[in-house]
Amino acid sequence: MRIIMKFGGTSVGDGQRIKRAAELVQSHAAQGHAIIVAVSAMSGVTDALINAAQRAAQGDGQGYLAGTRTLIEIHLGALQDAVNDSAARAALREQIERRLDGLLDLCASIHVLGELTPRALDTIASFGERLVVPIFAQSLRECGARAEPIEATELIVTDDMFTQADPLLDATREKSRARLVPLLDAGVIPVVTGFIGATRQGIITTLGRGGSDYTATILGDALDADQVWIWTDVNGVMTADPRVVPTAQTIDEISYAEAAELSYFGAKVIHPKTIAPVAAREIPVRILNTFNPSHPGTRIVRAPNDRRTVKAITTIRQQSLVTVEGRGMQGVPGVAAKVFSAVAREGISVLMISQSSSEQNICFVIEAKATPRAIAALEKEFELERLRHNIDRIGAQEPVVIVAVVGAGLKNTPGIAAKVFGALGERGLNILSIAQGSSEYNLSLVVAESDADNAVRAIHEKFL
Ligand code: ADP
Ligand code: ASP
Ligand code: MG
Repeated sequence: MRIIMKFGGTSVGDGQRIKRAAELVQSHAAQGHAIIVAVSAMSGVTDALINAAQRAAQGDGQGYLAGTRTLIEIHLGALQDAVNDSAARAALREQIERRLDGLLDLCASIHVLGELTPRALDTIASFGERLVVPIFAQSLRECGARAEPIEATELIVTDDMFTQADPLLDATREKSRARLVPLLDAGVIPVVTGFIGATRQGIITTLGRGGSDYTATILGDALDADQVWIWTDVNGVMTADPRVVPTAQTIDEISYAEAAELSYFGAKVIHPKTIAPVAAREIPVRILNTFNPSHPGTRIVRAPNDRRTVKAITTIRQQSLVTVEGRGMQGVPGVAAKVFSAVAREGISVLMISQSSSEQNICFVIEAKATPRAIAALEKEFELERLRHNIDRIGAQEPVVIVAVVGAGLKNTPGIAAKVFGALGERGLNILSIAQGSSEYNLSLVVAESDADNAVRAIHEKFL
């Protein structure tokens, strides 16, 4: 089988872990599988890079220097533990130091300019994956495999939406196949940087935070892989975030649609765009635990065996519930259209909408950090209505959390909403808003941030 194996940040979090991940790859390669590895930056590294860039832009020279020093230590430490061959180690050490010099130069220019563009941010954020891949490839060689480190800028062609780029599939397919198929034919395991790509002009882009999962399925599609395996730090996709619900269980099988819905509604275990490239072609995806590799994890397939109505409870945090209200809104045509076009013009996306049946208010959920812009845009849009007192209040409540109950066929099963509301009512948890007519795969509601964990536990207890 041709398998893409992606390793997340914790799975390559230090030298020992890189070695363990390399051994896992080699054990499957030894069974005759052709494997393509996609690797994330070591845990915490992408955050540290973004932080260094921001500090540089803010004029904090000491801050970015300290950040870069820590990154050198982390990678040289990993090199020490993951690589034994002394010549290889010396060469890699020099490469790491050279790269981090390059990073320092970039930060210095940002420091001088005092400005951080999305394009510069992507170049800086790309260093994490580009630093770890050569270490992983060498570790894999020391397990007896033939391996080659590859930067995904050579494979994945994207648009120029820096920090959130999307692949141009035909170009990506062509480049990936031209570069990787000959290696696979020669029995070499390509070790590819996750998270990054490049525009047609060769400028580095990133696929969004957590985007290495997406890299894996993009490559899965481009290379007609038989399977994509995502190695992470939990036993697969679970019925809730195990950090919040300790009794959460692994979901054995889940459909593409449900998995996509879960990831859109906050389950961090897979990046929201991961499912799209594989769903249409029905390439099976497995979510596995690097720290418990014999656990079967989760299989994402078209028609899962597990037909429970509710599959999981997820949350999207750091949101804001914006309300536009006024008695004069009643029956006035076009208020909703004005509300949403004002917000859309600001480039703010709306995650959830609800309107009371009395038509006296419209509520919607946006990212908390966009609140000031949204309020300002709405105040401007409704200046006249405000003067006439048709609209009395434009306000926001934050932080709030969207809690989503996800599962296929939810909307066709009577009594789900009543059960959810009952679970929250019993614990005295207040629901601020519920979504009307969202997808048939989920029921979502909004609660105050301080109630979110209890709300998830209460619903989980009732259904799972
Ligand atoms: P990686 O670095 O491997 O990509 P992430 O940290 O991005 O790993 O995603 C794995 C984490 O996602 C888990 O440690 C877990 O805390 C969190 N998570 C949130 N929701 C879920 C869920 N429903 N099932 C499994 N993990 C979840
Ligand atoms: N390293 C990137 C991030 O932290 C991508 C990933 O981990 O998937 O967002
Ligand atoms: Mg992740």
